[in-house]
Amino acid sequence: MRLSLHTVVPRVWTVELRPRAGGPLLVCPRCAPRAVSLQASAAKSDALRHLAAHARGDALAGHLRTCQCRQRECRWHPRHRGCAGPIRLVLARDRAGRNWRLADACTACARAIPYAAVVPDTATDMAVPGEGDGCVRPQRAATSPGLPSATRVREMLAYLAAALPACTSAAARLVALQCALRVDGEGSVTLADGITRSMRLGHLHVIWHELEQAAWLRSDPSAQRFRRFDLLDPSVLTQVPGRRARAQAADWALRQTCRPAVRRQRAVARLVALQIAACTDDHGRGSIETIHLTRTAGISSVAAATLLDQLARVGALDRWQLDPATDEVRWTSRPC
Ligand SMILES: [Zn+2]
Ligand SMILES: [Zn+2]
Ligand SMILES: [Zn+2]
Repeated sequence: MRLSLHTVVPRVWTVELRPRAGGPLLVCPRCAPRAVSLQASAAKSDALRHLAAHARGDALAGHLRTCQCRQRECRWHPRHRGCAGPIRLVLARDRAGRNWRLADACTACARAIPYAAVVPDTATDMAVPGEGDGCVRPQRAATSPGLPSATRVREMLAYLAAALPACTSAAARLVALQCALRVDGEGSVTLADGITRSMRLGHLHVIWHELEQAAWLRSDPSAQRFRRFDLLDPSVLTQVPGRRARAQAADWALRQTCRPAVRRQRAVARLVALQIAACTDDHGRGSIETIHLTRTAGISSVAAATLLDQLARVGALDRWQLDPATDEVRWTSRPC
């Protein structure tokens, strides 16, 4: 069978950030050993950049890509629900952040893999142009410009959950989301005063500092009135959808966090409200696995429950419940 011929293509790339005095060493099984240590603060960015380069080099048409997790009998995640959904590029790390893996996986497996996130709409898109055989191309379908802003925001929040340190504050996550969606082709982003005002975040300089410490962005000291930054995350720099579509998603996210019900809440409550809005369907119903909610907001499950109660009290959602069978949070809310 034609497809089985292609399943030998190992669309899995790994690197190890091996601790060493003077900074971690990037060890890639496919590349010659390196002698130079990395700066600890930039090591993660370097690892991601290295993995992305391998993925670009091993380009494969979308319809030939298969779930690499399934090919390993789904050993990457605890429960097996069966493969489903489009094949995406999934970034995963181990608990300690030492081993990093970029791989093709179906959407269902991607959701089940711990410490993993779908790499959103990136230039590591493997579809080979000019193939018109009518096969489904999941990656293309997933990155079509018609995607609603909510989906783009949801994917970016999930990606940032893997790309940013677990201890990143909710305020910094909200800022990172705006930066990632508004970045230009050169990797620069300018947050006008109006945007930062709408975000209602005090101590902005502390937030910039936090993201700089995570080696996620670098501020441009020459920018005065506007806040200008260079983003250092290679996956965010190479998004395929145009700036307009991404800016629309950023505006949508801003509107969600400026709704009367949540405007005066703390940043962490606004972040959870945004996640809820991004996962709510046209009928006002939504669900999300608890582990994804807690990871994207950087909070514990107990804190998530408290925040959901709080959001229900202020009218941001009608009611919510935890489904113990699937470990999903489900809710209903009125469209805003
Ligand atoms: Zn390599
Ligand atoms: Zn799997
Ligand atoms: Zn799968």
